[in-house]
Amino acid sequence: MKIALVAHDARKQELIEWVKFNRQELSKHTLYATGTTGKLIATVELPTDETTADGATHLEVIRLLSGPLGGDQQIGAMIAEGKIDCLIFFCDNLITQGHQQDVGALSRLASLYNIAFATNRTTADMILTSPLWKDANYQPILPECINNYKNRKLQ
Ligand code: PGA
Repeated sequence: MKIALVAHDARKQELIEWVKFNRQELSKHTLYATGTTGKLIATVELPTDETTADGATHLEVIRLLSGPLGGDQQIGAMIAEGKIDCLIFFCDNLITQGHQQDVGALSRLASLYNIAFATNRTTADMILTSPLWKDANYQPILPECINNYKNRKLQ
């Protein structure tokens, strides 16, 4: 599974705690993150009995640009291209961000493309532990409205 992780500054600590708690499961997936979030995730150590097949000692994460500098939009584009299965996005719900429009755009694309999408820890736990990820017969449905939009009739 390809998982993208983003946390605003006020919630980075919360995300890192969640990542540490789930590090063993997360190490089995391909992780992407916005710049600063990714820098913190890469510091999460894997205990020696939990090392990955390639012998990594820390969680491996592909770092994109920092969110306010274009990272949110990079992840949004990857979602639109079908390259992300799951977005864990711990956004600050108490202050408006300088890049609030990017935050809204990223949330919109995650919803539109029907990927697994968590904005809080409980939902993130439920997504990561869902048996559906291991069910070969389960395929997330691409909403019909996408094709309808592509094929819409213009006057
Ligand atoms: P950051 O970006 O991980 O680079 O801090 C997060 C965001 O604000 O989108």
